[in-house]
Amino acid sequence: MHYLSLNEETGGMNDVLYKLFSITEADPKHLVLAHLFDKPCFLGLLAVQADDISGFHANTHIPVVVGAQMRYEITDDPLYKEIGTFFMDVVNSSHSYATGGTSVGEFWSDPKRLASTLQTENEESCTTYNMLKVSRHLFRWTKEMAYADYYERALTNGVLGIQRGTEPGVMIYMLPQYPGSSKAKSNHGWGTLYDSFWCCYGTGIESFSKLGDSIYFEEREAPGLYIIQYISSSLDWKSGQILLHQKVDPIVSSDPYLRVTLTFSPKKGTSQASTLHLRIPIWTNSEGATATINSQSLPLPAPGSFLSVNRKWSSSDKLTLQIPISLRTEAIKGTFFGFLLLMQYFMVLTYLLVIQVVTGTSNPGREILFQTQ
Ligand SMILES: [Zn+2]
Repeated sequence: MHYLSLNEETGGMNDVLYKLFSITEADPKHLVLAHLFDKPCFLGLLAVQADDISGFHANTHIPVVVGAQMRYEITDDPLYKEIGTFFMDVVNSSHSYATGGTSVGEFWSDPKRLASTLQTENEESCTTYNMLKVSRHLFRWTKEMAYADYYERALTNGVLGIQRGTEPGVMIYMLPQYPGSSKAKSNHGWGTLYDSFWCCYGTGIESFSKLGDSIYFEEREAPGLYIIQYISSSLDWKSGQILLHQKVDPIVSSDPYLRVTLTFSPKKGTSQASTLHLRIPIWTNSEGATATINSQSLPLPAPGSFLSVNRKWSSSDKLTLQIPISLRTEAIKGTFFGFLLLMQYFMVLTYLLVIQVVTGTSNPGREILFQTQ
């Protein structure tokens, strides 16, 4: 019965049970039960670093990895840290679209053959929801920029557009990637307000309830604060003893910059210095990028690294960041047959929003066929 249940979508049972173990004063029953959901036929492959997830049902297994990551947090067993890291590498290198999304018809297909998987049933929304959890853990453990970049890419392209703008509460199941397809005209299309009970309604509604998640990560010892997303928000940063305000100017086509302003309200009586680590995203470029503190320039590191500023912050301080929004292309892996011979399918990224473009060697002019997401 137990093994039969593991063949179904058991969700994040191991994740939940490891968390339960951590709050029930380490009752060993909960640990044993959690282990029973660490699906060995899947985690075993990842443990021996086999790039062999093709054919597995994506959203059954991503939560098992999230649970394995929790096992590492609870037990300190480094194998489960390596499993999460290797899994993220495999999904990113072999099974992800430029949107950061993964899966076709709910499954993983042949590695690095994504171009032939473009259809209306790509990127089950739940898979993006769960991959965000995987990358969040990895960023917390490593502070590596690649995981922060991934988080922003997947959130922007795979979460923000899954709720219908004209009908709040209506969600989507799959995010079509096929040329000329649209969310409204895909196989499943949009759901309904009251009669759709796909798993993606649960994760979708939850996703919009936690848009404030994973903007800030703190280091308590230093104290330091990593700002990995530029979203207008305020943070009551207790260990830094500051109320921090982040304001992001709306993006408009006439202004090719992302502009961020940080202001501060130190708590009464505080005199400690603290460090802000501001993400300089990989998608920008150094030319035209500026950072200032009270109108004085700060030296900026290369895209893909953090700008660290240590200071005793005062209420008169103003930190600004201006980073160019650039246009770049990412070629999808594999070859796309169907429209033109020898066609390559490109994803063009403006800021983070993915626009899809087809080019063909028989057609030197680039032909824009598709919708933005
Ligand atoms: Zn789902």
